[in-house]
Amino acid sequence: MPNAGSRTRLILLGVGGGPRPRAASSSPAQVIVVDDVAYVVDCGNGVARQLASAGVALPRLRHVFLTHHHSDHNADYGNLLLLAWASGLGTRVDTWGPPPIERITRLFFEMSAYDIAVRIADEGRVAPEPLVHVHEFSQGGVVLEDTVVKVTAALVDHPPVVPAFAFRFDGPDRSIVISGDTVPSDTLIRLAQDADVLVHEALYVPALDRLVARVPNAARLKAHLLACHTAADDCGRVAAAAGVKTLVLSHLVPADDPSVTEGMWLDAATAHFKGEVVVGKDLMEI
Ligand SMILES: [Zn+2]
Ligand SMILES: [Zn+2]
Repeated sequence: MPNAGSRTRLILLGVGGGPRPRAASSSPAQVIVVDDVAYVVDCGNGVARQLASAGVALPRLRHVFLTHHHSDHNADYGNLLLLAWASGLGTRVDTWGPPPIERITRLFFEMSAYDIAVRIADEGRVAPEPLVHVHEFSQGGVVLEDTVVKVTAALVDHPPVVPAFAFRFDGPDRSIVISGDTVPSDTLIRLAQDADVLVHEALYVPALDRLVARVPNAARLKAHLLACHTAADDCGRVAAAAGVKTLVLSHLVPADDPSVTEGMWLDAATAHFKGEVVVGKDLMEI
């Protein structure tokens, strides 16, 4: 594996795009672990459970980043904070993302006030809300620089959601970029320049008609998917333009069509990119 011996680990927690719960794959989330400190990017449904399955102890949670506020990326944001606290987290957590992340955080704690009060009184826990420091931003740039990791955000193009971000993590020995949701993006290409790993959302266009045939709003859903996501062959073009070493396809749409094989994803992505291509799977470490 490309991460052998690296201090900067990347674990895919959920690689299926879209909010509909599926048996085959969890919703979008990933964690970068540097020296046992966990930086979670996106909080699709099941993120806390997936961290447990990946062997990342929830009290190690230190930073949470949201790329944008579609529910496949934020549905379990509050739940992750609450369940990490219920699992013993008693230290600071910083959360980062576009508006209205402050309001979402505040309302989540308000919604959860009964359980929190009961556990503080009954189990002697510290109050969770003062542990959580929210950073809301609408522009790209360096958002975090600590002793081991620099995190840079870039605005990407995911209409009608504005702003939507990609994030780059420059760790002690590897650089990892998470595309978020976007059409092929020049700002993402610049952000990902010469990165070791680019995790890019991917759409398998030939299978779209079968996917949308299952829903009542088929025509609108198809138009949405084509107008604000990236086809797998374009993921290869982006990876080549950025000069990354490894392209990881994730946020796969469709996520659970057995007729779309790993080889089909690879054929599409490698048409324009000669580096390593990985088709993401839940709990895969890269
Ligand atoms: Zn999405
Ligand atoms: Zn989205």
